[in-house]
Amino acid sequence: MEERRVYYFDNNATTAVAPEVFEAMKPYFQTEWGNPSSAYFFGHHLSGAIQEAREKVAALIHSEPREVVFTSCGTESDNTAVFSALETTGKRHLITSAVEHSAIMNQTQFLKRKGYDVTYLPVNPDGTLDPSQVAAAIRPDTALVSLMYANNETGVIFPIEEVGKICRKAGVLFHTDAVQTPGKLEIDVQKLGVDFLSLSAHKLHAPKGIGLLYIKHRTPFQPYVMGGHQENKRRAGTENVPYIVGFGKAAELSLASIKEEKTRVKELRDRLEQGILSAIPYTHLNGNKDLRLPNTSNITFSYIEAEAILMLLDQLGVCASSGSACTTGSLGASHVLNAMGLSPMEARGSVRFSLSRYTTAEDVDHVLKHLPGIIARLRTMSPLNEMHPDNV
Ligand code: PLP
Repeated sequence: MEERRVYYFDNNATTAVAPEVFEAMKPYFQTEWGNPSSAYFFGHHLSGAIQEAREKVAALIHSEPREVVFTSCGTESDNTAVFSALETTGKRHLITSAVEHSAIMNQTQFLKRKGYDVTYLPVNPDGTLDPSQVAAAIRPDTALVSLMYANNETGVIFPIEEVGKICRKAGVLFHTDAVQTPGKLEIDVQKLGVDFLSLSAHKLHAPKGIGLLYIKHRTPFQPYVMGGHQENKRRAGTENVPYIVGFGKAAELSLASIKEEKTRVKELRDRLEQGILSAIPYTHLNGNKDLRLPNTSNITFSYIEAEAILMLLDQLGVCASSGSACTTGSLGASHVLNAMGLSPMEARGSVRFSLSRYTTAEDVDHVLKHLPGIIARLRTMSPLNEMHPDNV
């Protein structure tokens, strides 16, 4: 791939691997490449490295190290929590929301087709969720409540702590998909009161292909990936040592810098957002302005297709997205924006900008300089422009 200056605003899709993370992983490809289960020296070294990483990711979420199970990704962690709750309770009703990531959405739709009952809680027009809906939806046959901590498309934060209290009172297991939160929110599983929590390392400047599932001590658990005795018999498969070590390093880096980074990233995000909304007519923000991740901005550009905006931004080296990376390329408008009440046309004109600790003021300036011209140009060309109020 040719070298070009990249202005990366798609950190909710994935993040750049931190150089420190890459350095920490290297020995586990080059010299420390053995199997952690072996009886000779490799075994001791590598199980020690895994344990050290487990302690670091546990510190990130305020759990005990033994409550952390390494998985292959956020999707596996989500699927595991749902599967385990259904198996251990023997119950057949699930509660989730209408705006979950496809990791939960597609699994629960599959389960629905298999005869399980799923309640999809609606959200308010600003993407927030009213926790009292959870209390009202819980039934004697409810196996699990699974709600995301923060939405990947809008950044809107759900009231996980309040829902945790409701679930504990009702004696129902509670899972949160917290994949979008590390490095952006402080995560404390004790405060949240969850039984399960999913994370994915590639949203935190570590590589793709490694995640974790927090399982509260003494929560009944049925493994999803069955086989060997790895991860204390909770997730089979030879451990991905370099990636586990990388995840640990990323957690350590994030913990050390989160307080300052949250503020710095939010300032940049707000400048980008305000700059766009004030310079470009017929734009609006999607999602609650305050109950939101500090790095995410989802903006509707009325009367244009987001795909056209993204194409022109791409020519200027700007990477952004029209929603979840997993749904880009599919024809349907975002199910998240749809659940918030946007019309399909508005949803199709929505662009997500997501920042990270590597985003600079120069990146933001580049977008602010070029985007108004791009939008003006597209508005003169777009067939949707016929519906523009200035033209009717
Ligand atoms: N959950 C949320 C909220 C996400 O944003 C993502 C990834 O975009 C996932 C789950 C899936 O994580 P992974 O790509 O590690 O499977």
